[in-house]
Amino acid sequence: MSSLFGLNEFNQLIHVREATRGLACQCRCVVCDEPLVARQGQVREHHFAHASNREPCDSNHESLLHQYAKQLIVQASGLTAPMTPTVARLLALEDHTTSTFLQALSAVQEEVTMGCIRPDLLVVTADGIQVAIEIAYSSFCDLIKVATFEKLNLPALEIDLSRFTPDNFDPDEVKKAVIESLARKNWVWPTAQQQEIETPAPPVSPPQPMVRQYLPEEIINFSGRWVSVKQFSSGDIAVRVVAFDPDLVSLVRSLAKAHRARYNPQYKTWNIPRWGANSVIQQLRQHAQSLQISIGPGSP
Ligand SMILES: [Zn+2]
Repeated sequence: MSSLFGLNEFNQLIHVREATRGLACQCRCVVCDEPLVARQGQVREHHFAHASNREPCDSNHESLLHQYAKQLIVQASGLTAPMTPTVARLLALEDHTTSTFLQALSAVQEEVTMGCIRPDLLVVTADGIQVAIEIAYSSFCDLIKVATFEKLNLPALEIDLSRFTPDNFDPDEVKKAVIESLARKNWVWPTAQQQEIETPAPPVSPPQPMVRQYLPEEIINFSGRWVSVKQFSSGDIAVRVVAFDPDLVSLVRSLAKAHRARYNPQYKTWNIPRWGANSVIQQLRQHAQSLQISIGPGSP
C-alpha cells in the first residue's frame, strides 16, 4: 500500500494532496522518518514515496486518519457540535437551540485515560467542562464505552469519518466534516433517549415535603441554620437555604453566581452545574465549620 500521509517540516501530518510536488514537499515518512517525494502524476493515484525509492512502509489508514482529525481540532482550537437540551445543561450553556462551537483553547488533551477508557481527544469548554471526542472510522462506540461515559458523567461526541477511505480522501472535505459540519456528529452520551426522559427537569407541581424527595440530600448546618444540597443524576446540584437567613442567602448566592448557577424561583434553589458542584459543597462545608469554631460549642 502506498503512503497517503507524510510528516511535514513542522511535524504535522499532511495528505499528499496538500503537499508541494516532489522533494519540495519537505516531508518525512510517518513510519521510518526517511525523506519522501510527493508523486502527483497523471497516471497513478497521488501518493508519497521514499526518496530512496525503497518500498513504502506499512501504515494504517485508520490510525493516520485519527491523528489527522485530532490535529485539525487542535489547529482550529475546537469544533462545532450539535446541541440538545441535556447536553447544553451538562455543558452549562445558556442556549441549547443552536449548535455550538466547543472551544478547546489550550486544553486539548490526546489519549488521556479516564477510568477504563481512553477518548481520542479530551477538549475543555470555556467553562472548564471536559468533553470527550471520539473519531470513528471502522469501529464505533459500543455500549460498554457509552456506559463508562455515563459513569464518568463525561459528555462524548462521536464524529463518523467512515466515508473517508484511502480512495476517497479530500482534505478539504475532511476538515469540513471534523470542524464545521454537524452531519455525522452524534452525542453517544447523553443519548437521545435519555434526553427525552431527562429534559422536563423542573416539575410543575409545588415543592413536595422533605420525605417525598428522592434525591440524595446533604444538610449543611450553619450553627442551627441549614443549607440543603441535593445532587441530580447528572452531577448538577440544587442548593437551597432551608430557613430564610439574609447572610446565608447572600453567601449561597455569591458562591452560586461564581459557578454560573441558575436560580429556580419555583424551588428557591440555585442549580449549580456539575463542574462547580464539588467546589461549592466544599466551600459551604468550610464556611459552616469555621462558623461553628468561631461561635464555639458552648455559645448561646
Ligand atoms: Zn518509511
